[in-house]
Amino acid sequence: MTVDNGRIAAVGQFAGGPVEDLGNVAVLPGLVNAHTHLELSWMRGQVLPGTSMPQWASRLMSLRRSVSSEPPQPIVEAIGEARASGTCLVGDVTNTFATFEPLLDSDLSAVLFRELLGFSAPDPEGLVKQVSEQIADLTPVEWLRPCLVPHAPYSVSPALLQAIARASRGRPFSIHLGESAQEVEFLREGTGEWRALLEALNVWNSAWTPPGCGPVEYLQRLGLVDGNLVAVHGVEFTDDDLSRLETAGATLVACPRSNKWTGAGEPPIERFYASGVRVAVGTDSLASVANLNLFEEATTLRWLAPTVPATRLLASATLDGATALGFQADFGSIEPGKRAQLLAVRLPDRVTDVEEYLVSGIEPRDVTWLGS
Ligand SMILES: [Zn+2]
Repeated sequence: MTVDNGRIAAVGQFAGGPVEDLGNVAVLPGLVNAHTHLELSWMRGQVLPGTSMPQWASRLMSLRRSVSSEPPQPIVEAIGEARASGTCLVGDVTNTFATFEPLLDSDLSAVLFRELLGFSAPDPEGLVKQVSEQIADLTPVEWLRPCLVPHAPYSVSPALLQAIARASRGRPFSIHLGESAQEVEFLREGTGEWRALLEALNVWNSAWTPPGCGPVEYLQRLGLVDGNLVAVHGVEFTDDDLSRLETAGATLVACPRSNKWTGAGEPPIERFYASGVRVAVGTDSLASVANLNLFEEATTLRWLAPTVPATRLLASATLDGATALGFQADFGSIEPGKRAQLLAVRLPDRVTDVEEYLVSGIEPRDVTWLGS
């Protein structure tokens, strides 16, 4: 492999020049964490695992209300941790842009998903305009790409969902979707724990009627299911949900460790892959996962989906995530023209199946960035 000016110039040919022998390592593209919330890093270990997702989320909300702003130091440390475990690119959800400056000072590339909530938002277009102006004020850099996204179908009104989609046309459109059984009940019947929480927060919208269908069909009726859609979680997805996503060329982001922590349950990883939908991987935030090591997330996928080839799990953690985030020209594979953000993972002598080894639990101490 020849690297020139930070980009891969050639693979498999050698035109002369200095050579570095890396020893017994696997070289792979930097990993892509397609769903995290770096600004919640200060909550690490503070929101105990839940038995239902709405219960867990309301604990998180009350903890969040206890601070006036997101402390910056845990964000800086989380970025360092993501880099140390081999991540080059994140899809990072933010409500405040507290992560922007720390990311600007780091080697991580990111899509910054500026998330909006509002189930009874009186002026969706006005809200979108206001936040679009915040985005316009950020220092423009090529490797940090801000865009607007909604939180979830139970926390964003149909009018706000569509206003966000109009503003973010052509960019990745990330949304928490099919995460919990309570979300499915809410969309089918308009009842349950999410409704109770909206009422308790005084944001219930009495004009809203439940669509009476599954989460993907709901978004489809609103015109929001296409190749830009990044549907995060999918614990409750039926084969019908998965087939609609696959047909549209959308991406599904699996975050299995977070699903366990929040009480959402176990995502049907085998069915995800069997459907043919593009599957990316995310850790979610440090409020619902012990660390940002994406190799550990891939190992969890391996446990949950023992028949899926390791190659496909590794593609999810690299190229499929880069594609979902619109960064496939820079990251996700070792090809001429892409950025040379490459990892060397130390291999023990006994390893015969390298791909299987890479999804068996790689620790940061085994990982080196090439050229560092
Ligand atoms: Zn999330």
